Amino acid sequence: TSYHKVLEENRLLYNEVQDLKGAIRVYCRVRPFLPGQSNGQSTVDYIGENGDMMIINPLKHGKDARRVFSFDKVFGTTVTQEQIYADTQPLIRSVLDGYNVCIFAYGQTGSGKTYTMSGPDLTTEETWGVNYRALGDLFHISKERSDSIKYEVFVQMIEIYNEQVRDLLVSDGSNRRLDIRNNSQMNGINVPDAFLVPVTCTRDVLDLMRIGQKNRAVGATALNERSSRSHSVLTVHVRGRELVSNSILRGCLHLVDLAGSERVDKSEAVGERLKEAQHINRSLSALGDVISALAQKSPHIPYRNSKLTQVLQDSLGGHAKTLMFVHINPELNAFGETTSTLKFAERVSSIELGAAQSNK
Ligand code: ADP
Repeated sequence: TSYHKVLEENRLLYNEVQDLKGAIRVYCRVRPFLPGQSNGQSTVDYIGENGDMMIINPLKHGKDARRVFSFDKVFGTTVTQEQIYADTQPLIRSVLDGYNVCIFAYGQTGSGKTYTMSGPDLTTEETWGVNYRALGDLFHISKERSDSIKYEVFVQMIEIYNEQVRDLLVSDGSNRRLDIRNNSQMNGINVPDAFLVPVTCTRDVLDLMRIGQKNRAVGATALNERSSRSHSVLTVHVRGRELVSNSILRGCLHLVDLAGSERVDKSEAVGERLKEAQHINRSLSALGDVISALAQKSPHIPYRNSKLTQVLQDSLGGHAKTLMFVHINPELNAFGETTSTLKFAERVSSIELGAAQSNK
């Protein structure tokens, strides 16, 4: 029995350590070459077991030619949607225990953000992304617990474009700009004027997603054009009532498909395009600043520098849990963006900070 006790203690210790370093998790996912793309050499040279990876640029020499990065996990090109979700699921479960969770998809346009979050095709369950799997799981687990806790689930979908917040669930396609206000009754819901729709099954969610996707395209010349330059935030608010004690718990899950992180050539972008690019740059660096301030346990967290961080304020930091998926396009001509994506990821990763501190 003492052997088992040691095992148990070790397990607890291990969980605690995992939890500490896991307040902010960074997963990197490498997109495969697409059919029809020149199947050239991948810039991702090596993926290790422990979240290490090396990128390489055969056209460069010296220290710019290769770099090693280290994250919580790195997923190679053959990893399935199911496997990605398996490593996300513990966070989803914690929402039903009353935690706030943010999951982000970061990367340049075309690197696979929407693939990870939504999937390529709503009609095939096998390729569903994190969004649908997460909601399916929330319904499934809440049913399992229904003897002791009665849960209600609500969904909101907003878009942040040029620092303006819009409701993606309005059916009239109106462009009303919404304010951000904290509402202590509705944990995590900081855009109280956007529709908050009760849902009871995955089917309901799919219907809402279709409306959201359609609205996201309004005013865009092409769907990809607009959606790659706005942040979309799917918020799931969970309210649970314990049947014995009658106490209420509230959890919140934000699933965020970020605007493309690519830098725009200043000499080329003009007018609307330049304005969009500046808004995106500013909000992504504001997000990076908030997460790295949290990772460093800084006393001041600069939430107020962007609409995105204001919307997510009470789900970033404190007891909230954050997962950032950073996406890599392995093509050689994306090497510059790949490097800056990985540097961003490194900046927000608490693991790197730990490594940096232990080097001192
Ligand atoms: P983003 O949202 O970053 O602009 P997308 O998710 O639209 O990028 O992905 C770009 C293209 O690559 C799409 O055709 C998508 O289906 C494909 N793709 C992305 N990731 C994967 C993957 N892991 N496996 C297969 N195809 C992928």
